[in-house]
Amino acid sequence: MCGMPAIQIPAKAYDFIDEAHLSGLLSGKRPDAGQIREIIAKSLAKEALSVEETAALVIADQPELVEEIFAAARQLKQQVYGNRIVLFAPLYIGNNCVNDCSYCSFKRSNKGMVRRTLSQQEVREQVVALEDKGHKRLILVFGEHRQYDPRFIADTVRTVYATRSGHGEIRRVNINAAPLDHEGYAAIREAGIGTYQIFQETYHHPTYARIHPGNTPKGDYLYRLHGLSRAFEAGLDDVGLGVLFGLYDWRFEVLGLVSHALHLQHHYQVGPHTISFPRLRPAHGVEVDSRYLVDDSDFKRIIAILRLAVPYTGLILTARENPEVRRELMAFGVSQIDAGSRIELGGYTEAGDAQVMEREQFCLGDIRSLDEVMGELMEDGYLPSFCTSCYRSGRTGEHFMEFSIPGFIKEFCTPNALLTLQEYLEDYASPETRRVGEALVVEELGRLEDGDFKETICARLADIREMKSRDCYF
Ligand code: SF4
Repeated sequence: MCGMPAIQIPAKAYDFIDEAHLSGLLSGKRPDAGQIREIIAKSLAKEALSVEETAALVIADQPELVEEIFAAARQLKQQVYGNRIVLFAPLYIGNNCVNDCSYCSFKRSNKGMVRRTLSQQEVREQVVALEDKGHKRLILVFGEHRQYDPRFIADTVRTVYATRSGHGEIRRVNINAAPLDHEGYAAIREAGIGTYQIFQETYHHPTYARIHPGNTPKGDYLYRLHGLSRAFEAGLDDVGLGVLFGLYDWRFEVLGLVSHALHLQHHYQVGPHTISFPRLRPAHGVEVDSRYLVDDSDFKRIIAILRLAVPYTGLILTARENPEVRRELMAFGVSQIDAGSRIELGGYTEAGDAQVMEREQFCLGDIRSLDEVMGELMEDGYLPSFCTSCYRSGRTGEHFMEFSIPGFIKEFCTPNALLTLQEYLEDYASPETRRVGEALVVEELGRLEDGDFKETICARLADIREMKSRDCYF
């Protein structure tokens, strides 16, 4: 509109998703074993991969090379994250939304959706229910609506942190909400959030335009693409990326995610803290377009390739997936999962055994309790963790990288995981889960080197058992 001053788009806010380049890489010649092994060696040296190297892993579909990629992803997961799996739960706060995304049951045109926004008192009730199960880390989820402005989000975060139940408390609150401007992020930063997550949903421009109407805020591809750049510019430390697999060709989306991670690393000296890779699921009032649905074997490749491409970014596998898929894919690079999740508004106090589709964004694949998931993880040799110490010790963003790159982080992760696990075993575990957990704690301690540090860990574990302390981390 004439007369309006030209909007100064900062130099970084260009469209860095070069569609022709990415599509060109995907139609390139299949790499040979030597090329793939060189790329794998770079990952195992804990170096992030370029988009071109990632593309080579994507188009290498020779079965023997796919197996080598799987084996390398398992190995890198062990090297960087050990057997630790961090646990969290989602808490949906409000599902009013002005957007009309074709794949989402919260879209404004879905008149059958039960609309609701939790009051602060209802938020407290949900948080108490989650704390009484043993949760310590939450992600709050909001539709895009003027009701959910930065002030409302910040107030809700403060309500969550202020809510306690017995030994229960939430120690880290992440956010999944709409992109904000610098001022909005600054307001939320004040409330002490952890990660701000924005999913681009798809990086493919024509698909994006087709499924996000242009007359809705989410129709603006570039504003969303730079949502997390503004978050960094406003002083947030940790951000999370994601796409909804099944909207377009998964191979292209993997390259889009890596392009985005490298863009952030290049311009802000820190990559994404996490990447999520949800798959399209049945949803109320939504007709699923099945052209690009991702099957389990390709989904496994997605996780393994991302593991190798971004060694220091946490990979989140959610309860969208069923228990069998989660159990199998955990080993290929996943570092965080949710458990005991309910995504109906008010679901942690109101939902029964069956899911209520007209009250949730999509249908979950895994609604087992936290305790069941904990038991299975430990039977499979994983160390469940509710750790939040990096975030609370200022080891975030660039500082997290400083710590994690030389591998020191493992020195902290395992002891802190053991401490949070012991708390869980004392305060929330079923007798069976406690039995499995106690045996795992002994086993993990057996792997640690004898010395002062180990004695300190053992003393802190004893304090927890004797109810003398809680929340003691390194
Ligand atoms: S995907 Fe998000 S923005 Fe789109 S309709 Fe659903 S809640 Fe709204």
